[in-house]
Amino acid sequence: MTSQRVTIGTRPADPVSPASSGGPLPDRGPLVDRFGRVHRDLRVSVTDRCSLRCTYCMPEAGVPWLPRDTMLTTPELVHLAGVAVSLGIDEIRLTGGEPLLRRDLVDVVAGLAALDPAPEISMTTNAVGLAKNAEALVAAGLTRVNISLDTLRRETFIELAKRDRLKDTLEGIEAAAAAGLTPVKLNTVLMRGINDHEAPDLLAFALEHGYELRFIEQMPLDAQHHWDRSQMITGEEILGLLTPHFDLTPLPDEARGSAPAELFLVDGGPATVGVIASVTMPFCGTCDRVRLTADGQVRNCLFATGETDLRTPLREGADDEALADLFRESIGAKLPGHGINEPGFLQPPRPMSAIGG
Ligand code: SAM
Ligand code: SF4
Repeated sequence: MTSQRVTIGTRPADPVSPASSGGPLPDRGPLVDRFGRVHRDLRVSVTDRCSLRCTYCMPEAGVPWLPRDTMLTTPELVHLAGVAVSLGIDEIRLTGGEPLLRRDLVDVVAGLAALDPAPEISMTTNAVGLAKNAEALVAAGLTRVNISLDTLRRETFIELAKRDRLKDTLEGIEAAAAAGLTPVKLNTVLMRGINDHEAPDLLAFALEHGYELRFIEQMPLDAQHHWDRSQMITGEEILGLLTPHFDLTPLPDEARGSAPAELFLVDGGPATVGVIASVTMPFCGTCDRVRLTADGQVRNCLFATGETDLRTPLREGADDEALADLFRESIGAKLPGHGINEPGFLQPPRPMSAIGG
């Protein structure tokens, strides 16, 4: 227990100024943008469908799914990922929607694991159904998972995710640990008046089981466009909810690298807790991520309003150099920051579930 005041923001201000227009782009070579950011992390959305309906992500009904014939087949997805790997991508994270809803997910993982050089393959999932598949996914080459867990209470889970699946998620978390997908990371989005009071319980749960918990500020990426800054639990508030119960010591920035979570040792360590303050403390200056949607569009930022179509050229027979140029073109157009805190910010038309979080 501590009464010490802990704040986020140990890292210096974002090194890329939103006003900067950046420098020239290399014609060839790895995915470097105008601000010198080297892109190594590809997030691939394998489906926009989901087994849950978390209110900060999807409405309960009426979501217009991507038409099936626009979705990349597994060979197409692996082909595009191979082009990305040739451009220096060394980590591929599968996401969605809910990746476990993709029937041939094991084949996707196996195809990615066979790329040369082989990227590290991880997945962000709600873990519903993971208990059945964890071992097969590990055998195919999956090495890590981030599992979303916003509450430990059944009623709150139903309120938040509109489905009665807490038990499945908890079983999935256990199965991930048993299958060796360790350290299991848990992601929590806190919502005011709904699950914010559970922050200490969630951390205690993670500590008890050896999971690494990270709290994420809610971002304006819900399909309903209902995000309201005043309802967001900020990183500062998250720390305020935890410090009456735990001693938190900020870890130096080197422990974080390009990862978005600011890390704190809990009760002297070795366990840590992370806070991803994407809105109040943007980390765009160290962003190394690029995204591929389930329908084959490259997005250079979660908040990008434009996309680069790779599906059409791929289906029309474009060669790998042409596809690589399209990846470079997308990275070349990347803005210095997400702009959420700028006056003219516009939420992207695609919701989080169709972008791939
Ligand atoms: N269905 C999987 C899951 O929930 O983990 C993968 C996709 S989900 C879009 C990826 C992550 O994005 C989850 O951790 C989820 O909590 C987070 N997320 C979704 N909408 C968000 C929002 N509006 N703000 C912050 N995080 C969000
Ligand atoms: Fe589904 Fe993940 Fe969105 Fe929740 S956050 S609705 S689990 S895609």
